[in-house]
Amino acid sequence: MASRPFIVGNWKMHGTRAMLSEARAIDRAAQRLMQVEIALAPPFTLIHPVRREAEQIGVGAQDCHPADGGAHTGDISASMVADAGAGFVILGHSERREGHGEKDKLIAEKAAAAFGAGLKVILCCGEPMEKREAGKAVDHVLRQLKASLPDTIEEVGERLTIAYEPIWAIGSGEAASIEDIVAMHTAIREFLVKTFGEEDGTAIRIIYGGSVNAENAAEIIAGDEVNGALVGGASLSAESFMNIVLAAQDVINNQS
Ligand code: PEP
Repeated sequence: MASRPFIVGNWKMHGTRAMLSEARAIDRAAQRLMQVEIALAPPFTLIHPVRREAEQIGVGAQDCHPADGGAHTGDISASMVADAGAGFVILGHSERREGHGEKDKLIAEKAAAAFGAGLKVILCCGEPMEKREAGKAVDHVLRQLKASLPDTIEEVGERLTIAYEPIWAIGSGEAASIEDIVAMHTAIREFLVKTFGEEDGTAIRIIYGGSVNAENAAEIIAGDEVNGALVGGASLSAESFMNIVLAAQDVINNQS
């Protein structure tokens, strides 16, 4: 586990301005928990308000278009989310891959646009249950990852985070086992070192997502090559999200 766990809340399509009080509460609590890096990815409509109200936490978007502008009704470019106050963007979430037919090539183009706009990228990957049952989870994820990365990224390091999210674990209440998480993160790390070299490949964070909650967070975050967590459902209230952050802080305290 990295010295400073990265805990990111993905609010998905949840939240109106009434939820700003949760973001404020998370931000206030974050000011006392500096050993954990905390971020929220609210819907587009809340990026600017959350950024304006929160001083301590990172704020990001859940998607962006690969083009910088143009005739793309309903879409939002990387430079627009950056302008709204986002510092990062989540790309390739399985809900975008499945719900919007997003393919690896498009995700790579979006990632290139995001880096070009000065955003960090959280790139999601993960296998469906059939692949895991067939013993092909690692092959599937590494292939997906390779195809979803832009061809040229320089000095990547912490500008890129990989989120390993087995599809069957998202929103199901059933997280992957710690053994499977560590095995997958180790395989991803080897791939990253091979692709980006020792220094950059080890600086890229690999976080786990899929039914993380206050009960399982400590075990997951303490796992080898687990640098944090991407949290969906449990990030929607400050109380449940901060319990995960506290678990991450305990892991750090127990290790030092
Ligand atoms: C997610 O959608 O990124 C996610 C991890 O969701 P949940 O925590 O609800 O499984």
